[in-house]
Amino acid sequence: MAFGWIDEQARLRRRAGLVRTLRPRPAESPLLDLASNDYLGLAHHPAIAEGAAEAARTWGGGSTGSRLVTGTTELHTELERELAGFCGFEAALVFSSGYAANLAAVTTLAPHGSLIVSDAGNHASLIDGCRLARGTTQVVPHSDPEAVRKALRTHEGPAVLVSDTVFSVDGDAAPLAAYAEACRERGAGLVVDDAHGLGVLGDGGRGAPFAAGLAGAEDVVVTATLSKSLGSQGGVVLGPARVVDHLVNAARTFIFDTGLAPAAAGAALAALRLLRGEPERAARARAVAAELHARLTAAGHEAVRPDAAVVSVRAPSPEGAVRWAADCRTAGLAVGCFRPPSVPDGISRLRLTARADLSGAQIERAVRVIGETRP
Ligand code: PMP
Repeated sequence: MAFGWIDEQARLRRRAGLVRTLRPRPAESPLLDLASNDYLGLAHHPAIAEGAAEAARTWGGGSTGSRLVTGTTELHTELERELAGFCGFEAALVFSSGYAANLAAVTTLAPHGSLIVSDAGNHASLIDGCRLARGTTQVVPHSDPEAVRKALRTHEGPAVLVSDTVFSVDGDAAPLAAYAEACRERGAGLVVDDAHGLGVLGDGGRGAPFAAGLAGAEDVVVTATLSKSLGSQGGVVLGPARVVDHLVNAARTFIFDTGLAPAAAGAALAALRLLRGEPERAARARAVAAELHARLTAAGHEAVRPDAAVVSVRAPSPEGAVRWAADCRTAGLAVGCFRPPSVPDGISRLRLTARADLSGAQIERAVRVIGETRP
């Protein structure tokens, strides 16, 4: 039977308690949400919904084609100009997703004969970028600048270090300044994914590279998603204009993909303008994360100290994590649940999002529910 082999995989998955299922989210959820990536609480903001609606009314439901043919509107160029200005880079290019942006950045900046040094904690989209690139990948231990230095010394010719700025599983930050130093000693490029840093870290949410003094550097390229802090959908690559021009001409996920939907561009633009006018949102997300962490550890949970807005709590086992998250849901709290194979170290976790718009009472309630449902 065609595809018969997948039944065996399904059986093994069931036996290991690792089956994933889709559950539609109601528009008006009664749950307290600590599971989404809506770090600044902007996804439902009326100005962002209006930005999307206005863009769809003006430009249509889709962008109608590749960015190089009919898929570039004034909205796209405006969004790119404003994103570059906000984050402190010369140029920006938006994509239909952060995933596509990462594939584009890594594949086009790591040609045949080059070395890609990749942090072991990197997101799947960076890993897939390495797999698709023509260069050779060397994975180095997580957040270890000395290991990066050593790896870079093994290679002559073009080299690039690829890393998340904030790692999605534990919410810890990469040693960006040390990474940049290791790259500069060797003339290597640095490509960092700021999906979890944009909107949360740096002055007013300008991102982790801005906070590390790397914004606008000629050897630094940043990718990010528009789907987390900016409450929209899509991705972006920020960097020197010559790098962005190179991507326009060489990145397959840019050239052969339909341009970002106008509604998504309009929503992201509205969110960016809102963030510029309300810079305190970023600091509030960080403060909520610190408070969540402090209360959880005081209650005896094993939680990683957050560097941004992700708070990760250890669970006893994959089954325990699933049960814990389900019991939280029954008690009115939505939390993320990370377990193998999404976590390469095999440690299952609850993943909590410290949204900027959470009140003190909501934080207290979340911590209470997590304590009461602990397996
Ligand atoms: N990078 C990181 C670190 C992410 O967490 C994600 C989203 N889960 C992505 C990239 C992909 O972004 P998008 O969802 O916009 O494709």
